[in-house]
Amino acid sequence: MSDRLFFVIPCYNEQEVLPETAKRLERKATGLIAAGRISPESRIVFVNDGSTDGTWEMIKKLHAGNPLFSGVNLSRNRGHQNALLAGLLTVRPYADVTISMDADLQDDIDASDEMLSKYYEGVDIVYGVRKARGTDTFFKRTTAQCFYRLMNFMGARTIYNHADYRLMSRRALDGLNEFGEVNLFLRGIVPMIGYPSDVVYYERDKRFAGESKYPFGKMLAFAMEGITSLSTRPIQMITGLGCVIFLVSLLILAYSLARHAMGSTVAGWTFLAVSIWAIGGLILLSLGIIGEYIGKIYLETKARPRFIVEQFLDREHGTREGRA
Ligand code: UDP
Ligand code: MG
Repeated sequence: MSDRLFFVIPCYNEQEVLPETAKRLERKATGLIAAGRISPESRIVFVNDGSTDGTWEMIKKLHAGNPLFSGVNLSRNRGHQNALLAGLLTVRPYADVTISMDADLQDDIDASDEMLSKYYEGVDIVYGVRKARGTDTFFKRTTAQCFYRLMNFMGARTIYNHADYRLMSRRALDGLNEFGEVNLFLRGIVPMIGYPSDVVYYERDKRFAGESKYPFGKMLAFAMEGITSLSTRPIQMITGLGCVIFLVSLLILAYSLARHAMGSTVAGWTFLAVSIWAIGGLILLSLGIIGEYIGKIYLETKARPRFIVEQFLDREHGTREGRA
């Protein structure tokens, strides 16, 4: 018996591309069903993220025309990550495996074949990674690369050049469900779930129609969200800066003592210079230390799962797969 595959596609004002996306996905899904690789109970789920155009009407029409299509309508625009999460968690009880992708056909639908093969080999999470960014504009390409670098530098580990084109098994979704945080940055959280994972490379195309829903400002906000929700490194940077500035005050002190020994002094200068740097350094250092505690509180409030058990081997109680 083949598994139920659910495609999950967040859509925000995508009426220009939706008919084409639906056509291509339908072709893909019916092909896979005919080949017996996925169950006839599989679905293509569009998540309408509070669109202001005719997107939801279109989804309803698709659903009425073919039960292969289904739809989730969010009460208002919640942003790409939340829309995707809403879709994934809504289908979790019904799906054996999900593949998420954007609505704009930038992700190569055919790469899902390879993802599925890996899934059937026992991989739980397959990341779609784009090979090159030849089709993106120079601006989008460089800003996106800066984005990944900055994220990594700030301690928010993500998969390089992976957006949200990804296969996830049911138990990976169960793991994701354990993360109760509100500021959810999926690309950072998914690697935290664990389980066997793999990568599939694909060429990223141009957006089929319509405009990018991720202008520069939104991308910057996205990066901030990613960093602040995954990492407390900015706080550690404050502590580091405090140490450096305090060291500078010690250097100034040593320098002034040396000058004093050589007989050249300006009255009061040493005291003022050393005090300014020492006090500045100490204040920053204290802020950093307080920040470290706040960082800990912040991470505690997220109540992330402390572990996820993949398997429990026990002769008496049988082998079972389970979660914490
Ligand atoms: N999207 C969404 N809500 C938003 C913004 C975007 O659901 O508030 C969806 C959008 O419909 C698309 C995906 O997120 O399916 C990625 O957006 P887009 O292609 O515009 O981003 P880009 O590829 O330009 O980074
Ligand atoms: Mg796009």
